[in-house]
Amino acid sequence: MIAELQAVSKSYPLMETKVLNEVSLRIPSNTSIAITGPSGSGKSTLLNILGTLDTPDSGKLILDGSEPNYSDNQLISNIRNKLIGFVFQSHHLLPQLTLLENIQLPLLPLTNNSEKQQAMERGIALMKRIGLSEKLNSRPSQVSVGECQRTAMVRAMVNSPKLLLADEPTGSLDSENASLLIDLLLELQKEQGFSMVVVTHSMEIATKLQKVYQLKSGSLKQI
Ligand code: ADP
Repeated sequence: MIAELQAVSKSYPLMETKVLNEVSLRIPSNTSIAITGPSGSGKSTLLNILGTLDTPDSGKLILDGSEPNYSDNQLISNIRNKLIGFVFQSHHLLPQLTLLENIQLPLLPLTNNSEKQQAMERGIALMKRIGLSEKLNSRPSQVSVGECQRTAMVRAMVNSPKLLLADEPTGSLDSENASLLIDLLLELQKEQGFSMVVVTHSMEIATKLQKVYQLKSGSLKQI
């Protein structure tokens, strides 16, 4: 099991009802999971808790076999860097850097040179794999939004994460590019053997993944 939520509840100040009400979810290795649900139903909150970016009020997150220690910021960011890759709705690439420099950003904290070199080669191979090897020295403004989003996907994978978390990764793309991105994500997920949780409001995208869950009124149900 890569990650597991055990009866996780979460609410925000001034809210009458809980965003998440004793939500449990098991994420085995090498699997793809879609989380759907209406806007404001707590999908991002759930993903942020899985990614240690937010904390549960009660219940537990078990990540790679242990419960993260939220009070140790350094430790938790090490765990996050090692285990988890994030893809968001906007690509968040740095405009002043080339695509190659952008995908190398997660490698900055690495101190082991051979590890760094390997990850760098992996990033370049992934860029080639998704048809962007000619664009390595371009800046984000010189390529399309779809190409930026595919680069952000490689940036999330360069550290070989065991868990990839994607929050509406196709939200800024037209339907053709959305479909291309999700197909590439799925191919890479199977090839590389990580697990992936994708938040999407699109049923068309959700049903491409192995398991589909719906979040509604604080509860999560497999559909
Ligand atoms: P979704 O991703 O399904 O659209 P979210 O997880 O973003 O839903 O939000 C769920 C609910 O929690 C919404 O009502 C939202 O306004 C509220 N919410 C999310 N984050 C915060 C926050 N940091 N502070 C207060 N309320 C929040």
